[in-house]
Amino acid sequence: MTRESKGCKELFNEVIDAGLCTLCGACTGSCPYLVYYKGRIALLDNCTRIDEAQCYQYCPRTYIDMNGISQKVFGTQYGDNEIGTTTEEVLIVRSTDASVTEKAQYGGVVTTLLSLALGERLIEGALLTKTSDDKTPSPFLAQTAEDALQCAGSSYMACPILVRYNQIPKGNNSKLGIVAMPCQVLAVAKMKKDPPENRVSIGNVKLVIGLFCTWALSPNKFYQFLKENLALSEVKKFDIPPPPANRFEVFTASGKTSFPLEQIREFVMPTCAYCLDMTSEFADISVGSVEGTEGWNTVIIRTDAGADLMEKAKKRGKLQVDKLPSANLAHLKEAAQLKKKRALKEIVKRSGDEKNLLYISLSQNLAKKLLS
Ligand SMILES: Cc1cc2nc3c(=O)[nH]c(=O)nc-3n(C[C@H](O)[C@H](O)[C@H](O)COP(=O)(O)OP(=O)(O)OC[C@H]3O[C@@H](n4cnc5c(N)ncnc54)[C@H](O)[C@@H]3O)c2cc1C
Ligand code: SF4
Ligand code: SF4
Repeated sequence: MTRESKGCKELFNEVIDAGLCTLCGACTGSCPYLVYYKGRIALLDNCTRIDEAQCYQYCPRTYIDMNGISQKVFGTQYGDNEIGTTTEEVLIVRSTDASVTEKAQYGGVVTTLLSLALGERLIEGALLTKTSDDKTPSPFLAQTAEDALQCAGSSYMACPILVRYNQIPKGNNSKLGIVAMPCQVLAVAKMKKDPPENRVSIGNVKLVIGLFCTWALSPNKFYQFLKENLALSEVKKFDIPPPPANRFEVFTASGKTSFPLEQIREFVMPTCAYCLDMTSEFADISVGSVEGTEGWNTVIIRTDAGADLMEKAKKRGKLQVDKLPSANLAHLKEAAQLKKKRALKEIVKRSGDEKNLLYISLSQNLAKKLLS
């Protein structure tokens, strides 16, 4: 069977029923049959159009040609840098806006950059994740800085933001931003490499802010756990403090509740064990925490679009910026490399053959290095 003839039957066989779906949402909306429903991808009817197969094509768990994608997004082959091929600058950053830092997960860099980009019409909409009163995350199209502020903070449950991208009418020309997990950034990068014909133009996406990610929680299972253990309407924020804390923290109006991380890991999506990317390597800007320095973000600038936006934010006094200390950078690289090595070993364990890396295609040298 050729790659082009694969469709939703193969998507279910190879990805969804195989426990590899990341819930990115990229497969939905390109046809009437696939939808995101209650924390999973559901097939409403049997698909007969095996020629088009866009659901299969943009899935981040099918055909990831790292060199091809890197060439398209950055104009260069995929390298062996632990935190991504293109890293123009790696910085420690925080917002200067107290109304943002009060609500944000860490330094509020993501919300500040979005507010600036929306306020100055560099983008006209941003695909974000909004957490509702019952703490379930949903994709949300923010159009103002106030909308972006409402989305500040992290939901650690997977949220299929690309469902919302696929719902934008094809003829819409608005400039878009996306804030996404590494697996979702990968789906967007696949679209940049081979633009889909039946969706809004991927060229409209002018800014991709990628988050760091070690794992995300299954929305169904984790929501059930939260409901049984907490009064959800009182929850203000979730956090996973850096090691050696080993805790999942929930902040409420009346204080803080901690759960051992081991208990929470039970709800991690199985696919995260097969994920190589910790730092959203194909984003314009990647943002995470800074170990040991509360209230700040690590920021990796990867493209000119990312650098221009950061420069504007600095000039307007919106961000406090410094170079990431070398000890933090070394630690970040170590953690990112560990994720790659673990994931590749899991992939090989599953395939049973060092030459069969399932969905991913890497240079032989890099694969050998990661498997050593
Ligand atoms: C599932 C998950 C796992 C993470 N794991 C790590 C990690 O291992 N190490 C690390 O350093 N950082 C991790 N992060 C990133 C971290 O939590 C912060 O999002 C990041 O540091 C930005 O901080 P900020 O203060 O600038 O964010 P804010 O200004 O508060 O903005 C947060 C943004 O995150 C988006 N968002 C919230 N929940 C989700 C979601 N479920 N899916 C997609 N987008 C979402 C919102 O749209 C919002 O715009 C993780 C985030 C998530 C969602
Ligand atoms: S990973 Fe994304 S594209 Fe692939 S099956 Fe899951 S939701 Fe669909
Ligand atoms: S670990 Fe990978 S697959 Fe899992 S949510 Fe994060 S980026 Fe997606």
